[in-house]
Amino acid sequence: MQKNNRVSLSPLLKRYKFFFDLIKRTTDAYLFCTDMQTNVAMVSPNLVQDFGLPGEVILDFDKHWGPLIHPEERGLYMASMRAILKSRNVYEHFLEYRIKGKKGEYSWVCCRARVGLDRDGSPLVFVGMITRMARRNQADEVTGLLNKYQFEHGVKMALAGYRATGEGGAVFLFGLDNFKIVNETHNRLIGDQVLRHVARSVGSILPPMLTLYKLDGDEFAVIYPGAGEEQVNEIFTGIQRSLSQPHVVEGRTYFCTASAGTVFYPEGGKDCLVLYKHAEAAMDIAKREGKNRNCIFSKEQYNRWVRSISMRDNLRESVENGCTGFSLFFQPQVAADDQRLIGAEALLRWKNPKGRMVAPMEFIPILEETMLIIPVGRWIVEEALRVCRKWRKVVPDFKVSVNMSYEQVKDSSFKEFVNECLDRYAVPPEALVLELTESKIIADWNFVNREFDHFRKKGVAIAMDDFGTGYSSLATLKNLSCDIVKIDREFVKKILENDFDRRLVKYTVEICHSIGIKACIEGVEEAGEYELLRQECDADIIQGYLFGHPESVENFEEKFLAGKVAD
Ligand code: C2E
Ligand code: MG
Ligand code: MG
Repeated sequence: MQKNNRVSLSPLLKRYKFFFDLIKRTTDAYLFCTDMQTNVAMVSPNLVQDFGLPGEVILDFDKHWGPLIHPEERGLYMASMRAILKSRNVYEHFLEYRIKGKKGEYSWVCCRARVGLDRDGSPLVFVGMITRMARRNQADEVTGLLNKYQFEHGVKMALAGYRATGEGGAVFLFGLDNFKIVNETHNRLIGDQVLRHVARSVGSILPPMLTLYKLDGDEFAVIYPGAGEEQVNEIFTGIQRSLSQPHVVEGRTYFCTASAGTVFYPEGGKDCLVLYKHAEAAMDIAKREGKNRNCIFSKEQYNRWVRSISMRDNLRESVENGCTGFSLFFQPQVAADDQRLIGAEALLRWKNPKGRMVAPMEFIPILEETMLIIPVGRWIVEEALRVCRKWRKVVPDFKVSVNMSYEQVKDSSFKEFVNECLDRYAVPPEALVLELTESKIIADWNFVNREFDHFRKKGVAIAMDDFGTGYSSLATLKNLSCDIVKIDREFVKKILENDFDRRLVKYTVEICHSIGIKACIEGVEEAGEYELLRQECDADIIQGYLFGHPESVENFEEKFLAGKVAD
């Protein structure tokens, strides 16, 4: 190693020394200025002090600095310096890396430097500043795990690894399901204990070469070079198993589940921010699809997710503007025996701001998820009753069926709202049918029945929609007190060719009748289907394209009420 006193300032550095001495007193940053011709550097005294450099004037700064850089970043540093020295058009150096202090500990620094050219454009000096990255040097406060800055660096290193070796891998994020509830119903301290427990138990099941990072909130991450789906699934099952162990905090037992999102690189992105964004989206999809699962990023699914996010904003805007863009279509319901018009089902339609009609299957789940179904549901009841009042002047026993989500049943003020609307529009309760259209598991049947009994006592009928699909089945029929069962189109579709489905429809109608429930058959499209149903089973109501498609109010009046409606 050189002796400090042997190196003296070059004439060029001597010229700058006056400024350098002034500036170094104004900052805590580490400063350096290298004469590129002689390779002599002048450095600020704090560099000498904190990193044990031989002196404030050094020959070949990199020879002393390079070995102090963490091996994981050293290659990048050297490559950047070589580019500065060799290339005639690289004049800037910007790098974050770990550097070893005098006591042997690593800390993160950020180095920014520039090349100064002489009049002919040849490199003259290299001047820069190194700062400590306080945020990066902190571990996650709650769990003590490496934090999001180190995660970011880890992803960058994994990508650099891919560029060097061609080996891809996975970025895996997971978050705790319903963690917000733990924080809200208890307090942050308990929330923190739960996070520490998760950090410990998940940390202990990870393969030793992998690191568990803690990002914002309740989000954790693992970077897994070389992993495919199988390895990632193994990790996720491990996490599920470790979280399934009960965890006791202050005498209370907690169980938690996690939802995860995985993105493979380079397919899912070659940039740290893009990979993170994709992994987060995948995790959000896992949560929306029912939680406690791992979703693997795909471009198609991601595009759908982006659309649903923008649809959410547009729906909110529509609702805030008094439900503009929404409209109700009505589909006729006829008596099964004589095809007489007896009512209609109100079906919600929505035009997005670009004027495109969006399918109810796309926007209704979003209304439910965002609880916007509550205000929209009220608007629907009001519209449907307003129209029903008009149409009852032409068909006196006309009934309107309104679809209702479980979210609306849970809304305690919905009952009063319906009662008030019936009064306001002077429509008798017998003219209203509420259809429970819910594919999710209903948690509390006693509660649902209590709410429905309130309506039924008043005279409003309750229908169970989509019978035979999802969770609407014989088991539900046993639990739910209702007046009408709507047998789904799934069964009607095949009755002409499938004996089993035909019998199923027939017996379902019989069971319903035996317990005093009416049966409505949905989705009847062809005359042949109707004939068969007439012969084989004794349903009460038919609804389907054969007797009419869903129509706007004006078209419905023209087609099915022979234009007799007066405003
Ligand atoms: P749903 O309540 O079972 O409504 C019947 C669906 O079947 C309607 O689809 C209707 O157009 C369609 N349909 C009726 N007859 C036939 C037929 O003969 N053939 C075929 N292929 N289809 C037929 P739509 O309007 O797309 O609504 C889909 C679902 O969206 C509804 O199923 C309901 O679950 C939900 N939905 C619609 N409006 C509302 C609403 O106001 N509130 C709530 N919560 N959900 C609604
Ligand atoms: Mg319905
Ligand atoms: Mg239905």
